Amino acid sequence: MDVLGLTFAELRGALQPARHQMRALRLTYQRLLDRREGCDPPPTPIASPEAWRGLRADVLPVVRSVGEGDTTKFIQQTHDALETESVVVPMRRRGRAWKTLCVSSQIGCARGCLFCETAQLGLLRNLTAGEIVGQVVAGRRYFRDVRNVVFMGMGEPLDNLEAVLQAVRVLTDPAGLSFSMARIALSTVGRATGIRRLAELGWRRLNVAISLNAPNDEIRTRIMPTAARESMLELRDALRAYPLRRCQFFMIEYVLIPGVNDAREHAFELTEYLRPVKGVVNVIPYNPRRDSPWPAPTEESVVRFLGWLQEAGQICKRRLTKGRDLMAACGQLGNRDLTGTRRSHPTQPTTTQPPSALSVPSVPPWSPSSPAARFGGGAAPRWHGEHGEPAM
Ligand code: SF4
Repeated sequence: MDVLGLTFAELRGALQPARHQMRALRLTYQRLLDRREGCDPPPTPIASPEAWRGLRADVLPVVRSVGEGDTTKFIQQTHDALETESVVVPMRRRGRAWKTLCVSSQIGCARGCLFCETAQLGLLRNLTAGEIVGQVVAGRRYFRDVRNVVFMGMGEPLDNLEAVLQAVRVLTDPAGLSFSMARIALSTVGRATGIRRLAELGWRRLNVAISLNAPNDEIRTRIMPTAARESMLELRDALRAYPLRRCQFFMIEYVLIPGVNDAREHAFELTEYLRPVKGVVNVIPYNPRRDSPWPAPTEESVVRFLGWLQEAGQICKRRLTKGRDLMAACGQLGNRDLTGTRRSHPTQPTTTQPPSALSVPSVPPWSPSSPAARFGGGAAPRWHGEHGEPAM
């Protein structure tokens, strides 16, 4: 049994251990999720029931990684020969350092945002909760101090909501990986129904980021055709009804695209739209995708736009661009070589076969300490990405 997509309570429910076996089962669960690189698989307790012997954490193999500075993108191959992409971003504040892991919730994306490399893939399929948690387990195996997890990689999390919610349950399970909910952020284009569903959950410490990117419906429809099926007013109503904590804000992501949404009137219109919402605007300089119709904005235009927002009275900050050369920055994830593998998109796991039973190309063992692996070690690495580097 693969424990990656299960909370400890669910595992316990499935195995029904006797009272005196509970501690051993919890230890086995924790060690499966938290095994460091090079460690042997955790020994199954000798006196354990037969059913425990098949317990495993089916973490997908990391087949490539690319690094730029301290930012690293790593790619895991799924059992059906597709790829997930995750980005490890080093963070530093007040003399303290940690890493934020940006994970994917889908392979590709159906949303079709024009500024996003992932959109070029279309939706190949949803990731399972286990595949999402597996990105975190792999990230922690190879990189120290992964403290934050942000759903800002490939895909729209609210389009794969059940798997994403289950992954959050597993990540925050105190009997397992034990992430604080306050260290997890979910970034969405802002489906009003999905936001209402999140609100109902009452997970008040979960951080929510909205990928808005436009000051009005006309521009939003142009650059985010499917996201704009709901008007920005509907989105704002859902945000206003969301039970934020007193000190909590929505992160409003705004990809600044030259000639599209970077004028002075856009800054003022955006501020007006956001006036009833507790939001901090995070200005993200556009990272050109392949064959992009737009260039990256100049530094001067980014600073100017931030100045206009401040002049209008909007709290804002800018996201530093990391990983642009790797196609690992915001909106740049996605291996276009997979485009030909598009299929109907099942929402459930397509297979649970062990890798050995599949016809995936064999890959060399990957290690973060190997420069060849770090910078590709084979086929040229390509990354997808959506909402960008984490803000936490
Ligand atoms: S920006 Fe986000 S929602 Fe839009 S296509 Fe890219 S991954 Fe999907």
